[in-house]
Amino acid sequence: MHLDWGPDVVAFRAELVAFLDEHAPPQTRTRRDFATSDSDQIIPGWAKEWQATLFDHGWMIPGYPPELGGRNATPVQTLVYLEEMAARGIPRSLHFPGYAIVAPSLLEYGTPEQRAMAPAAIRGDTVWCIGMSEPNAGSDLAGLQTRAVQDGDRFIVNGQKVWTSYAMVAQRCCLYVRTDPDAPKHKGISLLILDMDTPGIDIRPLTHINGNADFAEVFLTDVEVPVANLVGALNDGWRMTQGSLAHERAGLWVEGVARLEQTITGLVDLAHRRGVAHDPIVRRRIAEGYQRAASLRALGYKGFTSFAQGAAAPEHSYMKLASSELGKELYELGMEIQGAYGPVIDEERGEEAGRWPLSFFVSFANTIAGGTSEIQRNIIAQRVLGLPRA
Ligand SMILES: Cc1cc2nc3c(=O)[nH]c(=O)nc-3n(C[C@H](O)[C@H](O)[C@H](O)COP(=O)(O)OP(=O)(O)OC[C@H]3O[C@@H](n4cnc5c(N)ncnc54)[C@H](O)[C@@H]3O)c2cc1C
Repeated sequence: MHLDWGPDVVAFRAELVAFLDEHAPPQTRTRRDFATSDSDQIIPGWAKEWQATLFDHGWMIPGYPPELGGRNATPVQTLVYLEEMAARGIPRSLHFPGYAIVAPSLLEYGTPEQRAMAPAAIRGDTVWCIGMSEPNAGSDLAGLQTRAVQDGDRFIVNGQKVWTSYAMVAQRCCLYVRTDPDAPKHKGISLLILDMDTPGIDIRPLTHINGNADFAEVFLTDVEVPVANLVGALNDGWRMTQGSLAHERAGLWVEGVARLEQTITGLVDLAHRRGVAHDPIVRRRIAEGYQRAASLRALGYKGFTSFAQGAAAPEHSYMKLASSELGKELYELGMEIQGAYGPVIDEERGEEAGRWPLSFFVSFANTIAGGTSEIQRNIIAQRVLGLPRA
């Protein structure tokens, strides 16, 4: 049997490669893993320009039409795009909420005025954050308590959000609020667009274990939001929380698997450098990681085929769980291979400027953000395997 991509996909890939060779800034070629920041800015200038360049050339979200930063690419062309970008480790953007979560929700549920905000979200001209989680509402998102009370043509919002990525640099927030405290908890939630310069918003940055501070606590005191900023119907916000997270998961697997593959290549190099490439235990553990990453790639393709044919792709729930958990194991192995210097971040002593311990620390965040591993397991048990609720 002869398998090939077909001439349209080959031409599509060649055009993309030529574009990347000509336009990708040098900073995109040196990025590695997700732990080491090459700038003290959350969204450096080069990343803003790069996102706008991708949009202007129709390479930001290829499946969208040109006015939304795409070129009406087919699902297979989109997969080729994601693979080529991931294989080269080239990020599209350093702030995913706007293009990956907010824009699809605005396009699906927004008024014409709200839909008109989508291009700037995708191009990165407007930075968005997502205000879902609260101190007592994370996995149990429907328990959120931030309250919005309608008063004429505005809502008055009071409450607190936490872990809000990019809140300190965002111009707008997709804010989930309780608008009917008497309704069953899933039915009293609404989605508001919040301008982050509105009086009454107090943003307090939180620092990750690796020293980056790209998320925050957000306190809201008598914040006024125009009723025109309500997205979708009043008390229909829960449907949109589900939509948002689905958008997030559908596109993430290619990048996650490519990162695992790059990490495994890094482990092989490290084992050679540290003189343990012949150690049977090290060899077995690296090979096991390779085999698991290869299985994930195959499963990702299977899910993508279903997705492209308009069917459900339950594989995507598993991809997030499996890649984030495998990432954690691989970075820990990297530290073990280094022995006593494993956890050292110091550039002179530690390997590769702390790549392995910093990535290990941050890999825990990947098993929490966008739904924890435990919640992913519950989803698979109930929705994919049909097991009863625990
Ligand atoms: C890097 C990062 C970025 C983030 N960015 C954002 C953002 O931009 N906007 C936003 O709104 N949120 C954001 N979050 C928050 C994230 O969505 C929540 O942390 C996550 O949903 C878990 O909620 P929680 O932290 O309240 O933990 P909890 O829900 O309190 O969970 C605590 C522990 O209990 C377990 N657990 C909870 N319920 C169950 C259950 N039913 N069965 C089994 N185990 C359970 C969990 O798995 C976890 O181990 C971010 C988080 C991280 C790490």
